[in-house]
Amino acid sequence: MQKLSKVVVTGGAGFIGSHLVERLLEFCNEVVVLDNFSSGKVENLKNVKSDEKLKVIRLDLLKNNEINDKIANADVVFHIAANPEVRISEPKVHLEQNILATYNVLEAMRKTDVKKIVFTSSSTVYGEAKKIPTPEDYGPLEPISMYGAAKLASESLISGYSHTYGIIGLVFRFANVVGKRANHGVIYDFIQKLRNNREELEILGDGTQRKSYIHVSDCLDAIFHVLDKESSKYCVYNIGNLDSISVSEIADIVIEEMKLKNVKKKFTGGVEGGRGWVGDVKYMQLDVSKLISSGWMPKLSSKEAVRRACRELLEDIATPSF
Ligand code: NAD
Repeated sequence: MQKLSKVVVTGGAGFIGSHLVERLLEFCNEVVVLDNFSSGKVENLKNVKSDEKLKVIRLDLLKNNEINDKIANADVVFHIAANPEVRISEPKVHLEQNILATYNVLEAMRKTDVKKIVFTSSSTVYGEAKKIPTPEDYGPLEPISMYGAAKLASESLISGYSHTYGIIGLVFRFANVVGKRANHGVIYDFIQKLRNNREELEILGDGTQRKSYIHVSDCLDAIFHVLDKESSKYCVYNIGNLDSISVSEIADIVIEEMKLKNVKKKFTGGVEGGRGWVGDVKYMQLDVSKLISSGWMPKLSSKEAVRRACRELLEDIATPSF
């Protein structure tokens, strides 16, 4: 990677953000984390807390008057902060935490002349895609959750700022990202449920929901791969795996990794044909050929990523500071 003098990571104390910060510190002179610690934790940055290049600032992106001086002179802003919980259907949460926060970051960039943003979007922008695997140029984009709608709105804002004010926008649409320090998602949920009840596991939906999973290490490899090569003003990349795994198979992996026997899997049946919740996309696999043709390849399959993440989360739980 090319050496950068200053980068800003919003949401850098969260799951993906903290892994990103660890990587950025290897080749940046200054890494500034802006986080309100709503779901992020100081402990997530414990591996790098004594690094003098790291500056952690408690800041809420909804307080737009505080952002400008923190991001001034940055080479790149990695805008990771969001409310990532697809299951929250309250529109105001997504309007504020996802759309308004993105607008505030972009406005601060425009005012301070910061020229590059990396944005973590999501497969949910595709909604119930008729084409699977789904490529970046699939349309029409009809998200079926408020989270997906907010991600799509944020992408549109970035595109507008890019074409109007010359801000370079790199948008990454993630499949499900898993790994150490994840604080939400199906593996995390199953582990929590099984810690409370070792005999029965409640599974939302009918268990046949099938999605693509990627380990956070492969996901970050993909981001840095694109950062090094891409020179367009605005571009979109899917980041996901070449395969998928069902919710029921994930449950089996978690049960096995927790060394539990005779656990009864209790399916709630869910809503609208076996979805976990309203807004849950039942089948998701992203077409990642754009990334692969540029030379990137995931090291772990969906199943391997899930298994490794499960082990890592169990290790997190066994570590006192978590
Ligand atoms: P996370 O909750 O661990 O991280 C989000 C971080 O943003 C947290 O540290 C939180 O404290 C911070 N934050 C939230 N609102 C803020 C605000 N108003 N001001 C300042 N900080 C704020 O979630 P994650 O899984 O690491 O997700 C990171 C990004 O990747 C999000 O944008 C999410 O939508 C996206 N994404 C994640 C996945 C996944 O599977 N984890 C999939 C697709 C997209």
